[in-house]
Amino acid sequence: MPDVIAIRGARENNLQDVDLDVPKRRLTVFTGVSGSGKSSIAFDTIAAESQRLLNETHSAFVQNFLPQSAQPDADSLTGLTASIVVDQEPMGGNARSTVGTVTDAYAMLRRLWARLGTPSLGTPTAFSFNDPRGWCPACEGVGSVAAIDEDALVRPHLSLNEGAIDFPNYQAGGWYWKIFVMSGFFDPDAKVGTYTPEQRRILLHGPDGKAPKIDVGGASFTYEGLISKLRRSYLAKNPEQLQGHVRTAVERISTRGACPDCGGARLSAAALGSLVAGRSIAECTSMQVSELARWVRGLDAPEYRPLLDDIADRLDALVRIGLGYLSLSRESTTLSGGESQRVKMVRHLGSALTDVTYVFDEPSTGLHPHDVHRMNELLRALADKGNTVLVVEHKPEVIEIADHVVDVGPGAGAAGGRVVYEGDVEGLLASGTVTGEHMARHQPLKTEPRTPTGSLRVEHATLHNLHDVTVEIPTGVLVAVTGVAGSGKSSLVRGVLPRQHPDAVVVDQATTRGSRRSNPATYTGMADHVRKAFAKANGVKPALFSANSEGACPACNGLGIIYTDLGTLEPMKSPCETCGGRRFTEEVLGLTLRGRSIADVLEMSVADAREFFTERAEKPIAAILSALDAVGIGYLTLGQPLSTLSGGERQRLKLAIELGSPADLYVLDEPTSGLHMADVDRLIALLDRFVDAGSTVVVIEHNLDVVSRADHVLDMGPGAGSEGGTVVFSGPPAALVDADTSLTGRALAVRHG
Ligand code: ADP
Ligand code: ADP
Ligand code: ZN
Ligand code: ZN
Repeated sequence: MPDVIAIRGARENNLQDVDLDVPKRRLTVFTGVSGSGKSSIAFDTIAAESQRLLNETHSAFVQNFLPQSAQPDADSLTGLTASIVVDQEPMGGNARSTVGTVTDAYAMLRRLWARLGTPSLGTPTAFSFNDPRGWCPACEGVGSVAAIDEDALVRPHLSLNEGAIDFPNYQAGGWYWKIFVMSGFFDPDAKVGTYTPEQRRILLHGPDGKAPKIDVGGASFTYEGLISKLRRSYLAKNPEQLQGHVRTAVERISTRGACPDCGGARLSAAALGSLVAGRSIAECTSMQVSELARWVRGLDAPEYRPLLDDIADRLDALVRIGLGYLSLSRESTTLSGGESQRVKMVRHLGSALTDVTYVFDEPSTGLHPHDVHRMNELLRALADKGNTVLVVEHKPEVIEIADHVVDVGPGAGAAGGRVVYEGDVEGLLASGTVTGEHMARHQPLKTEPRTPTGSLRVEHATLHNLHDVTVEIPTGVLVAVTGVAGSGKSSLVRGVLPRQHPDAVVVDQATTRGSRRSNPATYTGMADHVRKAFAKANGVKPALFSANSEGACPACNGLGIIYTDLGTLEPMKSPCETCGGRRFTEEVLGLTLRGRSIADVLEMSVADAREFFTERAEKPIAAILSALDAVGIGYLTLGQPLSTLSGGERQRLKLAIELGSPADLYVLDEPTSGLHMADVDRLIALLDRFVDAGSTVVVIEHNLDVVSRADHVLDMGPGAGSEGGTVVFSGPPAALVDADTSLTGRALAVRHG
């Protein structure tokens, strides 16, 4: 039997009877334009079937609790091994999950402290902040405690009688308000802002000494300051147990502050007092990983060499993958998608498993060309350990290292779904496919940048690692902000810029609200126009054609899918049997426009819909469709739930809405993620359209095609974390090529020779 994963007749999503042999224990890259079907092969067919088969090995009882997935649509799939999907989903978990705990580096450090720390505390659990034996009792290892934001709670320009206390039951006439008014400490008609410091203290924290009793309507109550009262009644409780409106109010007035006992270190005083070479374990977890690795290597303890080497190797893996700027104490929930994926990768590298199929989703996301090469080494290392590594990628730097390339296309959606090339990288270059051609040809360097219309000043920025950055950002042009991961790009343009210039519109990849019910048609407002067109053609009211109305299928409430709640697990999905997934009642489905039902229209791709909505009265629909096509998502169907879109697709959908009436200033974070080289060309043309319409467009980008076509480049660095945080270059791309202190300049020079 040949050593391959053999796929025959695959038809998931847009796949057109794909036959494919993927070599095992090799590195295979899947590429092709966005929407061509790469994920449909790698994730929805190979990984999905492998996971389904694994689930089947559980007992029937356990299977009841697992998400039931249908068998992927294919004639046969053989040669599968157990698969692990390493994607960009933010790492689940809570405040207790840190870079150290998820990579196991922290568990290794605890073993080191258990053996070498003085005074000795014996067991590793004494250093665990997830165990009562190690945690700081004040914060139970979370490092922060809930506090009340006085400014959100008390409105100084109002008196008690006017409702100065902004909290349910404390407003004028409320039960607790009475206690404050009857206390005699305050004039209920005086603005709270005019209170003496003493009165303010009594209002918030109560008087010194024994709490006085207050008589309200014949009953006696203990007077307590507002903050201590709210803290005791609400903050100490599990928010889940509070009534909805109270919970909302509590969330509004509460903030989290560092724990006063441990200062955020999470550990007991005993754990913090145990030192190795003069340092506590908490000092070490707050260092940058790159510095910690050096420190561990320098420790003089020959008898513990194997443990020290293990720790240093794990830390080095983080450094090599471009994450040396993180600290082990960083909460995993604050990591970006790309960072999360790389942290997960490090965890797998440490695993003893072999002959596993790893499937990566664009692992180069967020990485500077300089770091991509180091990440490539880790992908190779996984394959060399005897694993099958499948990577969905677009960057030529990653495609280049593949043992085997699968190029999917030629187009997107129905125009794709076939394997257009399969073989080694050399063959790809000669194949004549869109990918092959782009591999050989880059966007030229812009030599005549636009003249700015003015500039925006960012002053004294110090967020995260920024070193008091003051910089002028030219307006009316396309600005690329570059630099290695962790150099401070996001801190500057996503953190500080919108604070100093609140009119900035940040177009990100975040999930949109209500994404199960929303789709491109509803999200863009096109659905309203489509309903009107159907209503007019049939002489009925437009609301009938809304999946939220009486026209919707009553069994699935217009979702087309039935979701069964499984408690903590992902809900189970099954197609609605009443409407067959078509979302509407039979009656509504019988009302047509030029022979098509509303369900037919929702199943059209944007491109097909452009050919259907050509009547004069349908101009608003055509305009939105053309914007969707212009941003490169013409292959999506109008009714595809937003929850199934990738981050990059969501970002382009948001951009399409902006095209109608462009704002002054846009900030985009890596808009090329998920885009094939051919799509990148279209994206650049789109950004140019915004700039030509008068907008300033600031993009965080690693993609050298975009950097080459920018009018102005701001390069952050020189390194990551504490070694970054300054602007190392500001000027046109043609000048950046000569800036040899800049890593971006060097990468650009290599490409443009
Ligand atoms: P790629 O990974 O190459 O960007 P995909 O495999 O994600 O492409 O998508 C291929 C086609 O299948 C696209 O037209 C896409 O819109 C469609 N598609 C993908 N996932 C779904 C889904 N869950 N429901 C409906 N259509 C989907
Ligand atoms: P880039 O966008 O260039 O990758 P960032 O601005 O995200 O860089 O990060 C710059 C520095 O700030 C890094 O050292 C990073 O660890 C730190 N940082 C970023 N976000 C946070 C956060 N939410 N909490 C703590 N530190 C952060
Ligand atoms: Zn604490
Ligand atoms: Zn239904």
